[in-house]
Amino acid sequence: MIAIATAGKVDGEAVAWIEGCLATEIGDDTERISPVPDPGYAYDASRGQYSSTLVLHDALARLPANASKLLVITERDIFIPMLSFVYGQAQLDGPVAVLSLARLRQEFYGLPPNRALLLVRARKEALHEMGHTYGITHCGDTGCVMSLSTNIEQLDAKGSGYCDDCTTLLREASGTQKSAARSEAHSGGSR
Ligand SMILES: [Zn+2]
Ligand SMILES: [Zn+2]
Repeated sequence: MIAIATAGKVDGEAVAWIEGCLATEIGDDTERISPVPDPGYAYDASRGQYSSTLVLHDALARLPANASKLLVITERDIFIPMLSFVYGQAQLDGPVAVLSLARLRQEFYGLPPNRALLLVRARKEALHEMGHTYGITHCGDTGCVMSLSTNIEQLDAKGSGYCDDCTTLLREASGTQKSAARSEAHSGGSR
């Protein structure tokens, strides 16, 4: 089962949409669990952003016993130290991932809101980060959702589903999940 939790106030329609995408594309049951804490504890005042690594570590402690994965969704703008931002972060072949909607909104770039675009971006990022949790690394096929996006143009240009190779890897991995991987993978970001 894939558990889904919000962290802080999050767009409910987007969360429901993401949950549906994961259920369909990964083929595992999903379950909304109680919200996890608003990531105020992860705030870095010098950057005005929130540490996605700290959010992941908090999520790890909250993984439900009956869940193989936990996806945390937040509206907070998140980062890892080596990058100016990330859209999301996941433990490679591990149980937890975090996704931020902050930079998926046109408003972030001073543009009018675009609901359809927000949802397709959220789908791509959620599938991408969850793919990492199943041990899938970046894919060279730009049509594949597992290809790397370092900016919003690349995110918009890539496909919104897994390629055949990544689908095969996903099916194999979701059948037999190993327990304790700790390496982390990121997506998005620029210096
Ligand atoms: Zn692929
Ligand atoms: Zn990635």
